[in-house]
Amino acid sequence: MIVILKQNTDQMQLDRLITWLKNSGVDVHTSVGQSQTILGLIGNTQHIDIDLISQLDIVEDVRRVQEPYKNANRKFHPNDTVIKVNENVSIGGGNLTLIAGPCSVESEEQICAIAEAVKKSGATMLRGGAYKPRTSPYSFQGLRTEGLRLLSLAKQHTGLPIVTEIMDISQLDGFGDVDVIQVGARNMQNFELLKALGTTRKPILLKRGLSSTYEELLMSAEYIMAGGNDQVMLCERGIRTFETYTRNTLDVAAIPVLKQLSHLPVIIDPSHSAGKSALVDPLSCAAVAAGADGLIIEVHNDPAHALCDGPQSIKPEVFDALAKKLAVIKGAISK
Ligand code: PEP
Ligand code: MN
Repeated sequence: MIVILKQNTDQMQLDRLITWLKNSGVDVHTSVGQSQTILGLIGNTQHIDIDLISQLDIVEDVRRVQEPYKNANRKFHPNDTVIKVNENVSIGGGNLTLIAGPCSVESEEQICAIAEAVKKSGATMLRGGAYKPRTSPYSFQGLRTEGLRLLSLAKQHTGLPIVTEIMDISQLDGFGDVDVIQVGARNMQNFELLKALGTTRKPILLKRGLSSTYEELLMSAEYIMAGGNDQVMLCERGIRTFETYTRNTLDVAAIPVLKQLSHLPVIIDPSHSAGKSALVDPLSCAAVAAGADGLIIEVHNDPAHALCDGPQSIKPEVFDALAKKLAVIKGAISK
């Protein structure tokens, strides 16, 4: 249920309403927007008398929210959520954030060289997997704790905040220096992991599962937010369809739909979407044109010898040209 307040409400009356609602057993989430303040009620609202609240002086309107996701719902929070990472980076609210780096951290030289290159091209965060979810147990599984250490080193060298994937709650203690925790597509519905991340105060990049609906993705975001962590980014990374030519199929419609349903930033991963480096440029352009808040792109200085996802990785010089093109597209749609 949401309670839309009239403008310039009397603070005492508002405090009294909030206390009354809390005493009725619901959580109250206040969203102060430019033109409207909205109270989002979470919990069992069945017994709350809509007519009674509607009649209050300070109340403009009361509506039931049908969707099962509340915190993530745009109705609860009409303005875009802007996530701040390390003071310098703001994601959402009209910014275009470029996150770039290799699929996996392989060595100090590799991660530091790529970090420096992508920073020069305009990336504001560095990605790199330390823990890798691989389809085959015989494939490279990531450098794990050593990978985290090397990411920290690259962060020290470049100042770029780091984004890396967590696969299990037991790894969380090692994520102290990680700026954004990625939940991979395969873990989107690892509910215990999502609950644990809800207790942290770190931004979460939540990837859409290979065959998950928008509502399932939003419900996974809700798990994190229900724990009190409202810094969630939604990431479309391609879904499984009947097409086998590409690794997955980028669902461009996810951008406007998720942004309509939710206030959370939407990030696109064109690398896993197609699985082919040649498609990263056009898919990135499409994503920015469709209103994405950011992109997470796999960049490798030697894709042919990458230990993971070489075929979909672009070289630093290709990323550089792409970043310039994306700035033009962003400028054109922002006019
Ligand atoms: C990755 O980012 O390298 C990755 C494994 O992503 P996804 O979970 O989308 O497959
Ligand atoms: Mn990858």
